[in-house]
Amino acid sequence: RAKHEGKATYHFFEPALDEAARRRRQMELDLRAAIKDGGFTLNFQPLYNLAERRLTGFEALIRWNHPVRGRINPAEFIPLAEETGLIIPIGEWVMREACRLASKWPSDVTVAVNVSAKQFAAGGIASTVMSALSSSGLPAHRLELEITESIFIADVETTLTTLHSLRNIGVRIALDDFGTGYSSLSYLRSFPFDKVKIDRSFIEDLGTSTSGHAMIRAITMLAEALGMETLAEGVEDVAQFEVLEREGCQNIQGYLFSRPVEADAVFGLLREGAGYQRQLAG
Ligand code: C2E
Ligand code: MG
Ligand code: MG
Ligand code: MG
Repeated sequence: RAKHEGKATYHFFEPALDEAARRRRQMELDLRAAIKDGGFTLNFQPLYNLAERRLTGFEALIRWNHPVRGRINPAEFIPLAEETGLIIPIGEWVMREACRLASKWPSDVTVAVNVSAKQFAAGGIASTVMSALSSSGLPAHRLELEITESIFIADVETTLTTLHSLRNIGVRIALDDFGTGYSSLSYLRSFPFDKVKIDRSFIEDLGTSTSGHAMIRAITMLAEALGMETLAEGVEDVAQFEVLEREGCQNIQGYLFSRPVEADAVFGLLREGAGYQRQLAG
């Protein structure tokens, strides 16, 4: 009887593993095809400065238009792209396309591009950035790179050298998803980031706990002391917005003002201020 169950279990799991591996392999092949055939697009989500009451820039967010499965969000394919090394060509495309599109925007509007730690570790990021800037004509100061603390998992010395060479090109550097990593504070000390993007999880907490306020206050005070700007991610309601403004957070991003939009819709958002005035009035 026991023997029979054991055997049944074996047969039950084995095909499931095969199936997962097969799906993964298929997805890798599909990713390769998408790189070759232009299967990706960029969406853009506005970033607002509270003091200036103005839309200052957009974050570029990749979308995959899968021939069978339809639109796939980055959380579903970026990890596989990182494991397979495909993040390098994908990241190069994102950089080039974001700069190309942003070069058509008004000259006071910036673009933020997410850079994976794998791109960082691979070494070519500075030349990718320079080439994207020169082929698009976008001035370096209008490009902001968003990196996460995971870049510091690699050799810190090399990481800092790369950060400084990017800084020398003249691009801005933001620390994304701040507060989710292991020892965020020490990373803040190791490099003068231009901006700290406070992770959405802290903004979510604002509705449910008062300690959330204290976290936001502590992060904004620390960033200010270090000469870094702050931005709160994932602002979804007016209550969160009011706390952030009161606690001195300088910039915000979130569904309250706008979801990510297609590239063509950027101009409409720029014209109307992306509902920012509307929201503040309401
Ligand atoms: P991220 O860089 O932290 O980007 C912000 C994410 O939060 C985006 O998800 C955005 O759509 C979402 N978001 C913005 N406001 C709100 C809000 O009010 N509520 C909620 N619930 N979500 C909000 P998205 O576009 O799915 O991207 C997820 C992550 O995928 C990004 O997180 C980033 O880490 C990565 N990613 C996106 N595009 C790229 C890319 O071009 N290259 C690389 N390497 N990673 C990318
Ligand atoms: Mg980001
Ligand atoms: Mg983020
Ligand atoms: Mg985030």
